[in-house]
Amino acid sequence: MGAEPYYGPDFGLLRRQDPELAEVLLDELARERRGLQLIASENFTSPAVLAALGSTLTNKYAEGYPGRRYYGGCEVVDRAERLAVERATRLFGAEHANVQPHSGASANLAAYAALLQPGDTMLAMALPHGGHLTHGSKVNFSGRWFDVVPYGVRRDTELIDYDEVRDLALRHRPKVIVCGATAYPRLIDYAAFRGVADEVGAWLLADAAHPIGLMAGGAVPSPVPYADVVTFTTHKTLRGPRGGAILCTAELAARIDRAVFPFLQGGPLMHVVAAKAVAFGEALRPEFAGYARRVVANAQALAGALGAEGMRAVSGGTDTHLALVDLRDTGVTGAEAERRCAAAGITLNRNAIPYDPEPPAVTSGIRVGTPCVTTQGLGPEELREVGKLVAAAVRDPGAAERVRESVAGLLTIYRPYLSEY
Ligand SMILES: *Cc1c(COP(=O)(O)O)cnc(C)c1O
Repeated sequence: MGAEPYYGPDFGLLRRQDPELAEVLLDELARERRGLQLIASENFTSPAVLAALGSTLTNKYAEGYPGRRYYGGCEVVDRAERLAVERATRLFGAEHANVQPHSGASANLAAYAALLQPGDTMLAMALPHGGHLTHGSKVNFSGRWFDVVPYGVRRDTELIDYDEVRDLALRHRPKVIVCGATAYPRLIDYAAFRGVADEVGAWLLADAAHPIGLMAGGAVPSPVPYADVVTFTTHKTLRGPRGGAILCTAELAARIDRAVFPFLQGGPLMHVVAAKAVAFGEALRPEFAGYARRVVANAQALAGALGAEGMRAVSGGTDTHLALVDLRDTGVTGAEAERRCAAAGITLNRNAIPYDPEPPAVTSGIRVGTPCVTTQGLGPEELREVGKLVAAAVRDPGAAERVRESVAGLLTIYRPYLSEY
């Protein structure tokens, strides 16, 4: 690693032309480099991805798909989208990919639009047990437009209750079964979900927004062989630009494409599509498999260290990039822990644990993830140290300064965007 910080494409020009906005960018870069980022849904994208995002491809209208656009002059951006689609299908062994969804939420909306009519029934993981807003929350389109039957985790094991999933499916006959979550630390048994879907004649939709990068790197099993449709984000463990994408069978390709455009979206963000192609290219390299494995090893080291400090990992540990931590034995709420960690230079989020007695704004837990710190180069030994720092910060607000100094010490060695990597 060199010593020159990376500021983004032609940062100097922006600084001369719009110092006020340039300062925002500098301050955010400084924030990302100053603290420990343990938010499980975030990552540090590569300078190559940032370069594609900062490109003139943002200027181009390209409604439609490569070779069948509604605007002229698309022959160049077509190449970017073809590369993204070809790399995504190769990376995941999928029959078809749509790389245009603007976000994970858009990808889910498009997938529902392709498979359901308003009022139809679907089965999805309950929000308080780790599901996502787009899986049937009443404040989201999914809960408003569809009849969503929630399933959850067992109280004793804190693992998905596959018997309950089957019982609910047999009783409610959903058209779609959604598997995937935003705060579930364990592997999902996609074969079991496929079995239930087949039994009731439902489509199986896997929302792999969180673990998709681990799947790309082969660190956890992929839903692609089992699910009819897989939605995901490109900015979480996959380490690409902020955005969404959909994989599906050849059978559903035309329906998914029509649902994304023209049903849901207008012109695709071609600079983001190009950046997705860059990220898929990076994930295809052998090094990415090592990254994905280290992310999981680091999460296990962090969860273990927190457990040794009396902060129990929900379900007893993790198989993925994140751990959900039950703070009830410490007497500190999730909201208070989030605030205390922030004061100590550690960014993480409060999170409901299954059967949480506290309301969602307070919670009894925190969620920690290792995609960012692994990108920076921290290993299991450092993550055990980070676990002790988190525990110290959570237990004692008076420890904030000492923890902040230790974090600063770690970051002198492991600093994001020090140079191109
Ligand atoms: C993050 C996430 C999404 C939504 O992604 P956005 O890009 O924020 O819209 C959807 N589903 C799951 C399970 C997620 O974790």
